[in-house]
Amino acid sequence: MQQTFPEQPHSNDGTLPVTREIVSDLWKICVPIPFPLKTVNMYALIGKNGWVLIDTGMGNPDARAAFEHWQHQSGLQTETLQAIILTHHHPDHVGLSGELHAQSGATVYMHPLDEINLQIIWSGTMPRRFERVSRFFQQHGLPPTTLWYNQTNQEALRRIINVPPHEAILPLEDGQVLNLLGENYRIIWTPGHADGQICLFRERDGIFLAADHVLPRITPNIGLYSDLDRPNPLDDYLTSLRKVATLPASIVLPGHGEPFSDLVERVTEITAHHQERLQQILDLLAQEPQHANQLTNQLFRQRTLQNDEARRMAVAEVLAHLEYLRFQKKVEQHPTKDGTILYAIAP
Ligand SMILES: [Zn+2]
Ligand SMILES: [Zn+2]
Repeated sequence: MQQTFPEQPHSNDGTLPVTREIVSDLWKICVPIPFPLKTVNMYALIGKNGWVLIDTGMGNPDARAAFEHWQHQSGLQTETLQAIILTHHHPDHVGLSGELHAQSGATVYMHPLDEINLQIIWSGTMPRRFERVSRFFQQHGLPPTTLWYNQTNQEALRRIINVPPHEAILPLEDGQVLNLLGENYRIIWTPGHADGQICLFRERDGIFLAADHVLPRITPNIGLYSDLDRPNPLDDYLTSLRKVATLPASIVLPGHGEPFSDLVERVTEITAHHQERLQQILDLLAQEPQHANQLTNQLFRQRTLQNDEARRMAVAEVLAHLEYLRFQKKVEQHPTKDGTILYAIAP
């Protein structure tokens, strides 16, 4: 359930993003992750008496080393960490949050929808929940699959992803203004990539912490993963894109890749990508009714579907588009005798 696929990173010169101070007292800390996106960004806000982290990377050895190197470089001790903001529940954004919270006592903030997911997925009930997810995907033509974290040794997994207990997390709501180190940040709820995805906007100078909502070069994964999630994630996402498009952002700080400045242009490109994908799906369904996995085979290059994780994310993405079209009454579901659900053009 992370946004690492099917989109691949492709920087023009082949270099990976780097750790650096973006503006005074605001650092982008770039750490390696074991997913195709290769790196994730944490952001640190630095005040006179403490500091704040937005997202916490993962606890894989390379990421730990990169984070510790930055702490050494900046001279910031974990004990003076005051707050942790988690932008959404995906593993590459929350991995070290439990450990850092335990060491510092920092207040942890998150949107309540993703806090539920955080606890369900990372506090040990995932195998049970995953059975349900697996059944959900089988209806859409995907044979049973495995998740990397179900295959990983549980003890090793706890070193990589360790989250704070429910009681330690304070909820963030859309529109709330959060004061961090004397500066105001507006919380913007942007469901789509995750149901509880949030962004932060600093009104004073237009710093926009976009997390995985708006990324440079790649489109964030927008997928439907189970019948417990919000039912129309692509509609959520396109609405959330419109919600941020008019922000007077001076710079966009994404969850992956390098910061960029033209928010409107990027929102326009991503919206166009989804419109094109919707049309491709309508064209394929005009030939014959099909299930989501069949469509996925035609819409994605085979080399991007080589592991279970990648294929499930691609099918989830196709499903998000199919359900968007179904809510628009352009397509309908045709259940079959074997339990598979075909989609067809609505009459
Ligand atoms: Zn994500
Ligand atoms: Zn991410």
